[in-house]
Amino acid sequence: MNIILLGPPGAGKGTQAQRLMETRRLVQLSTGDMLRAAVKAGSEVGRRAKAFMDAGQLVPDEVVIGIIADRIEAPDCKNGFILDGFPRTTAQAEALDRMLAEKGLKLNVVIEMKVDDTALVERIAGRYACAKCGAGYHDTFQKPKVAGVCDNCGGTEFTRRADDNRETVVTRLAAYHAQTAPLLPYYRARGVLREVDGMASIDEVSRQIGRVLDSF
Ligand code: ADP
Ligand code: ADP
Ligand code: ZN
Repeated sequence: MNIILLGPPGAGKGTQAQRLMETRRLVQLSTGDMLRAAVKAGSEVGRRAKAFMDAGQLVPDEVVIGIIADRIEAPDCKNGFILDGFPRTTAQAEALDRMLAEKGLKLNVVIEMKVDDTALVERIAGRYACAKCGAGYHDTFQKPKVAGVCDNCGGTEFTRRADDNRETVVTRLAAYHAQTAPLLPYYRARGVLREVDGMASIDEVSRQIGRVLDSF
């Protein structure tokens, strides 16, 4: 099963993708994570992407399309994948359609996670992750069971993203509304769009996504 999680920054895409990896054994393909890894490694892709990411703007289409095209080739994608943060523009969606058609793969469903802009600012401002395993947390909404210790790996070091600040969030939300929201009618017209209430609790959102996936 191949699915897209579509929603604004902070909607909960990464959180739900991490859960789906375990419950449905799907591979998570997060262009944000791939780009951050490229920046950290100082690769050519990272050098091209960094200034856009720091400013909260979208990285040029050909850069992200290139990294997804490479990644989708990998054998672990054969059992199904979750696209998290891709596509984000109509050009990316069209490139994805071409890639899938070439490989004879099908896009089963696009899940829209609907969340109010006001809630997103708070979610992004409080977001952090385990430095060792990447498990995601939130200052208020998703604390580790033992304070300062990662539930998943026992790690005690945590990181915050450089772009998770209130100024950049405004730019990122504007980019979502201008460049990514047009994908909703694009996928609705193809009959693959389903909606979940991203304002609900993390567990409730997981249940709603589970019901959507079970209907296939
Ligand atoms: P969030 O989870 O908050 O939506 P991401 O981790 O998905 O953020 O993305 C972080 C940044 O990486 C974006 O602000 C953008 O600069 C870049 N980025 C990630 N995915 C894409 C994409 N598909 N197209 C263009 N830029 C992207
Ligand atoms: P995205 O990948 O869409 O940018 P994340 O999954 O990283 O979003 O979630 C953003 C922040 O909000 C994280 O700190 C996460 O713990 C928290 N979060 C995710 N889903 C919910 C939810 N349904 N209710 C409250 N907080 C949430
Ligand atoms: Zn951890």
